[in-house]
Amino acid sequence: MKSITDTFVLRNGYKMPCLGYGTWQTPDGQVAVDSVKEALRVGYRHIDGAAAYANEECVGRGIAESGVAREEIFVTSKLWNDERGYDTTLRAFDKTMSDLGLDYLDLYLIHWPASSSRFDNWEELNLGTWKAMTELYKAGRIRSIGVSNFHEHHLRALMETEVIPMVNQIEYHPGQLQAELVSYCNEHNILVQAWSPLGQGNLIGHETITTMAAKYGKSPAQLILRWVLQNGVVPLSKSITPSRILENSQIFDFEIAEGDMAVLSAMPYVGGSGLHPDEVKF
Ligand code: NDP
Repeated sequence: MKSITDTFVLRNGYKMPCLGYGTWQTPDGQVAVDSVKEALRVGYRHIDGAAAYANEECVGRGIAESGVAREEIFVTSKLWNDERGYDTTLRAFDKTMSDLGLDYLDLYLIHWPASSSRFDNWEELNLGTWKAMTELYKAGRIRSIGVSNFHEHHLRALMETEVIPMVNQIEYHPGQLQAELVSYCNEHNILVQAWSPLGQGNLIGHETITTMAAKYGKSPAQLILRWVLQNGVVPLSKSITPSRILENSQIFDFEIAEGDMAVLSAMPYVGGSGLHPDEVKF
């Protein structure tokens, strides 16, 4: 990837700009409006949101006020856990679209799988949600559909459906590779997106990273985001600080050497959220 507007191509041919801008924990209100506008101003063309972030109205305002044409922006939202199932998914989608003020979505994801530890009928629940998303996709209201935080057994339960997931958004950063899951996704042409690529900021000060970043004349965040990209994964970084929004977008003027890629990939578990989709209580 050589530019922020370069794209990954999904199984259905739809294009996703290679660097996403995250909005989790972005306070609702003017901060969200201004941060999204700033991200679009400096060149991001991919906004990652979710109903659960409780800021979709302001994210939508940021998009509308940015002056960037709608069709140039790739917008993602996610269906929250208390809306699982066929009818509820259709209703939740309408609410998200009205909050965002958009008439189509580029990507809609199931935020977390219904898990076997909480639901006897977890497969059925996920299939009901997926059926609704498939219908919205076929009706042209969503350009691509996928999942988030799905492990292989959750994915398998959707692999016999009419439209199989195009994306799996998972926690991914040095110290948290989920290598087997990523291989499974690659084998099935499911594009992987990296949430918390900076380990929610916790990786920034790690010595291995700061030392290597200095060698390339880049910041720790830039080094990590580039590493994600060079692994064929889509980084979704979040910042509400204008200087960092810009910094995190400047990852297209250097290449991490193979040996250094391997060093970053071999880092011990650090900066992880510890969240497991079959164990979370939400
Ligand atoms: P990130 O790994 O992107 O880290 C964000 C944190 O790092 C913020 O505190 C930010 O501070 C700080 N930061 C950002 N850039 C820099 C920098 N250059 N130097 C120093 N500090 C920096 O974390 P997120 O957890 O937000 O993940 C990114 C996105 O992934 C989310 O916003 C969301 O869209 C998505 N996500 C999806 C999940 C899912 O379940 N599907 C779960 C979690 C996240 P500040 O903002 O103050 O500048």
